[in-house]
Amino acid sequence: MENCVFCKIASGEIQSQFVYQDDQVVAFHDRAPLAPVHVLIIPRLHISTLNDLQIEHKGLMGHLLWVSQEIARQKNLQEKGYRLIMNCGRDAGQEVNHLHFHLLGGRPLGELVV
Ligand code: AMP
Repeated sequence: MENCVFCKIASGEIQSQFVYQDDQVVAFHDRAPLAPVHVLIIPRLHISTLNDLQIEHKGLMGHLLWVSQEIARQKNLQEKGYRLIMNCGRDAGQEVNHLHFHLLGGRPLGELVV
């Protein structure tokens, strides 16, 4: 998708150090981290919001969750815990219109919202 910053990151047009990548998913550090670990996990495929999911995306969404817990494990967060957040739309404060999970951890998160 033209002019989508996360598509550009996924394609390598904007350089980023990936925490994880495969043929369907990439993960990278949020540029404005709200916790010691703040990773964004995105599909390479441009899907704007959760509202835009189609039935054929079900497997991809499962894969995003799988990758998220793998990254949490890599970051040694599984025992202390972590939070996985997806904002959808204006009232949730979704800033980037390319579906993504925020993986947050490394400190008590309290009522933190992203
Ligand atoms: P959301 O409000 O859920 O759409 O979150 C978007 C997140 O993307 C915010 O936490 C931003 O800090 C982050 N972000 C925006 N542009 C970039 C970028 N170029 N590289 C890394 N993170 C970004």
